[in-house]
Amino acid sequence: MTAKLIKGTEIREEILEEVTREVAEIKEKHGRVPGLVTILVGENPASQSYVTLKIKTAHRVGFKEIQDTRSEDISEAELLALIDQYNKDDSINGILVQLPLPKHIDEKKVLNAIDPDKDVDGFHPVNVGRLMIGGDEVKFPPCTPAGIQEMIVRAGVETSGAETVVVGRSNIVGKPIANMMLQKGPGANSTVTVVHTRTKDMEAHCKRADILIVAAGVPGLVKPEWIKPGACVIDVGVNRVGEKPSKKDPSKMVAILQGDVDFDKAKEIAGSITPVPGGVGPMTITMLMRNTLRSLKYQLGIA
Ligand code: NAP
Repeated sequence: MTAKLIKGTEIREEILEEVTREVAEIKEKHGRVPGLVTILVGENPASQSYVTLKIKTAHRVGFKEIQDTRSEDISEAELLALIDQYNKDDSINGILVQLPLPKHIDEKKVLNAIDPDKDVDGFHPVNVGRLMIGGDEVKFPPCTPAGIQEMIVRAGVETSGAETVVVGRSNIVGKPIANMMLQKGPGANSTVTVVHTRTKDMEAHCKRADILIVAAGVPGLVKPEWIKPGACVIDVGVNRVGEKPSKKDPSKMVAILQGDVDFDKAKEIAGSITPVPGGVGPMTITMLMRNTLRSLKYQLGIA
């Protein structure tokens, strides 16, 4: 059996098209477009490239986008004042602070200073609480888990009554996706188990999974024989396992990426599976765009 591939790259295009269309409609009717600001402190190359990708995507879907870059020596008070300024700016619907921040700045304090109604990453404690309550309370589901749920739904996988097993319990992936899958409502209603490094028999839990979501950051952690035949396997892991010459420019080296699941063997057992790269990866920024659009819709009272 060869599993159906759930391609994040294709789903990204579908969702970005939907967002672009809706942005154009709102602009026509209300004369407004979503505003997204990305605050970058310092010159970390990885952070710069993440921010560039977010800004490029925001531009593509028709948002007003601002990249606000500040020097490494900005004080915590100055950064908090900057966030306050964007909190009060009605043309801004989403505020992102790219992590990591320099050591002299308290990251938690900075993230908690963002107005929860502009926290499109969904990491503010208020939004984490809203996610826990579920239903209409949820404003901004965190982007990677929201992308995972969207992939499962768009792949036509039945979630209601399914045994969903999540490997990993981080605040950015494991805990929120487990919470989302157990909520009462469409795309959820699962019976959820979360496993982690202290779990006694991880294999036994994984073997029961109709939907197996793996977010551990350990290459090849989930063995093919742990997969229930026909299961939906979502591999969130992105692990650099080496380097190879770039296809575009062979004089440059690029990372070889591998997931947490042995893909080649797993695809012969699973019913559907995400590849790495090209699976969950492209979904995070995509869902960020959707959250920013939602934020404008809440502001206009049309959500
Ligand atoms: P994390 O904060 O390091 O959490 C990893 C979780 O996996 C922890 O709960 C840990 O358990 C568990 N774990 C680690 N090794 C394990 C093992 N041998 N057996 C069982 N459980 C184990 O990682 P994260 O931020 O959630 O990210 C996980 C992976 O997803 C990483 O590869 C990351 O790069 C990737 N990721 C991808 C995207 C994307 O594609 N957009 C976004 C976010 C993350 P304990 O709690 O017991 O330590």
